Amino acid sequence: MNYYQFDITFQEVPGEISLCFSITGCKLQCKGCHSTYLWNANNGKPLLKKNYLELLKQYKGYASCVLFMGGEWHKEKLIEYLSLAKQNNFKTCLYTGEETVPKAILNELTWIKTGKWITAKGGLDNPDTNQKFIYLRTNTIHNHLFLKKQHHD
Ligand code: SF4
Repeated sequence: MNYYQFDITFQEVPGEISLCFSITGCKLQCKGCHSTYLWNANNGKPLLKKNYLELLKQYKGYASCVLFMGGEWHKEKLIEYLSLAKQNNFKTCLYTGEETVPKAILNELTWIKTGKWITAKGGLDNPDTNQKFIYLRTNTIHNHLFLKKQHHD
């Protein structure tokens, strides 16, 4: 499982500071994809367990969530890494372009973002989006967290 980028992010999971890993090998080929460098599974470098655990240790108490941008195509590895995050008291999130992922992955997640990128419909901050941000503990859609506040003055 190769990752292209590691970032600390604040927007993708509202209210959380996330350790974000962008995993390469996405096969969805959404038209208008902003991250085509994620299509080739050979891009980036392997996310080694040793390095991953070091990052979890390093950011424990600062970051609160581990976020994978893709990676569901490495099912067993992703489950293992999400489980390790949980064991270290991190919440977990997956951004996928699929409509859903196997139950064994869902079981390891606090949140999931589902749905392909469709330029005309936009992302989670667009009320017309096809994408869903789901809080899995209650199985409810929380897209409202991404909508910009309306100004009425
Ligand atoms: S799921 Fe994301 S990375 Fe994959 S093709 Fe669609 S927009 Fe690009």
